[in-house]
Amino acid sequence: MAAADIVLDCTDQMAVRYLINAACRRHGRPWLFAGVDRFAGQLALFAPDGACFQCLYPTLPEQLQDCAGAGVLGIVPGILGLLQAGEALKYLTGLPVPSQNHLLLWDGLGLELRRLRLRRDPACRCCGATGVAAIPVATVCATFSGAESASADWELAPAAFAAARQSPDHLLVDVRSAAEYQAFNIGGLNIPVDALQPEDPRLAGRALLLLCQTGVRSRRGAAQLRAAGREDVFSLRGGILAWLETEDVR
Ligand SMILES: [Zn+2]
Repeated sequence: MAAADIVLDCTDQMAVRYLINAACRRHGRPWLFAGVDRFAGQLALFAPDGACFQCLYPTLPEQLQDCAGAGVLGIVPGILGLLQAGEALKYLTGLPVPSQNHLLLWDGLGLELRRLRLRRDPACRCCGATGVAAIPVATVCATFSGAESASADWELAPAAFAAARQSPDHLLVDVRSAAEYQAFNIGGLNIPVDALQPEDPRLAGRALLLLCQTGVRSRRGAAQLRAAGREDVFSLRGGILAWLETEDVR
């Protein structure tokens, strides 16, 4: 993200947006948030000198559902995506950007578009009193991935994970998809989480260190293997994102 002119959020999870927000604040990059819910959508361009996403949503709203849970009218992501692309083009070409430091609320039932001014919150946990103080991305990651609340003793912080990895008795297993693994990896065997089998001969004889992008899939995989009777399975808390943010284990 540090090298990007602008970052576009095309995710469907609130938690990921806190990560994008923290990373963009840290690197002083603008980003365009777009979210959809049933018949409505939201859009905002968060510039480095304005309000941030966490000023708008200080904490993760409870009982949020993703598109699969809440449902969304098929046209809504299309419309928000086009609005988002248009705002990005305006920003990149120096035209006025109505969504900059504003929240656009698009209502697909009433066909209304409202625009609210966003103000920086001096008490914001991300952008702080000065607007430049950013909390570490790994902290956000651990908070919003739910890894902190689970805190099982087989979930290892990056430093502990790095120490365990040095031992020949441990096998590193990257449980992301093959495409994610090929795009970037820190080594180890690639077995996507849904393909993990306790009786897989490749997993025999050594303790297993599972990792994924944010620590959610590896926690699920470790829990499954542990439920099947393997007590020597561990998960990297916060995933590769936390790993990369912890400079002393690189
Ligand atoms: Zn903020």
